Amino acid sequence: MNRRPAADRRRGWPAPKLALGAAVSDGWAALVDLVLPAGCAGCRADRTPLRRGVCAACEAAVAALVPHLVRPVPAPPGLPPCAALGGYQGVLRELVLSYKERGRHGLAGPLGALLADVVAAHTGSPVLLVPVPGTAQAARRRHGDHVARLARHAASRLRTAGRQALVVHPLRAMPRPDSAGLDSTARAAAAATAFRVRPGRVARLRTLLRSSGAEVVVVDDIVTTGATAAAVTARLAEAGVPVRAVAVLAATARRMPPARAIPPARPTPPGTSRAVPPGSSRAVPPARAVPPGKTSRPAPPPT
Ligand SMILES: [Zn+2]
Repeated sequence: MNRRPAADRRRGWPAPKLALGAAVSDGWAALVDLVLPAGCAGCRADRTPLRRGVCAACEAAVAALVPHLVRPVPAPPGLPPCAALGGYQGVLRELVLSYKERGRHGLAGPLGALLADVVAAHTGSPVLLVPVPGTAQAARRRHGDHVARLARHAASRLRTAGRQALVVHPLRAMPRPDSAGLDSTARAAAAATAFRVRPGRVARLRTLLRSSGAEVVVVDDIVTTGATAAAVTARLAEAGVPVRAVAVLAATARRMPPARAIPPARPTPPGTSRAVPPGSSRAVPPARAVPPGKTSRPAPPPT
């Protein structure tokens, strides 16, 4: 990341220019499908016009979602403030699953743009995105690290909107069993040993932080118990890298009521009109329901 120009240091960083609708539209428009999808990635409708693999109704459903603070109950120790676009349900859930488990890789662009909205709503600039590292096993199964890909698209979208954003990879994931079926205690135990610091990259990251004043944001597709995000945060903190926030696309709704008492680390910069103030009771609109019979196999639980 380039050092901030003198003028920027005096004035502060440019106000974010992201607007949810614009971000969604741009994200979708920027994407080129390489393979014609079988149907809408959100509702599987196959006799409706699709834009980038998603029908107009599903696109509108996610466009209506507003990034908000969430908190697992119980929250693991050391978990930073978490922001999500919506609950892990309805169209958003189907899009995440289509991208992550059904090979719809083309959704990385629009979903990355949505993740950028979550980051922009709750952090400043410059920002360094740390995708939760996936295991090599998971990357092979999904033809790549799906969270890293999301993060790259999110950073690109943030830069287009006038923010400084980079993706950094200071951690690596250790081989671990699938967390499906684990309760929160077991997940926390598994997550505690799941990541290792990459010393050279962390050293460069600390240098970058000192020179840029950037905020570090951990990004993931889904947050469930928060154990994974807390473990990533702990490894980074041990290495001298403070994490400002966690940003995800979807939060499992049953455990994650909208948080009301997470104070911001510092005042929200001017112009961040889309940020939901702490304590806001603004609820996430329910996502469009998937028509009966449209859901096929049960989805593996998120990590
Ligand atoms: Zn649809």
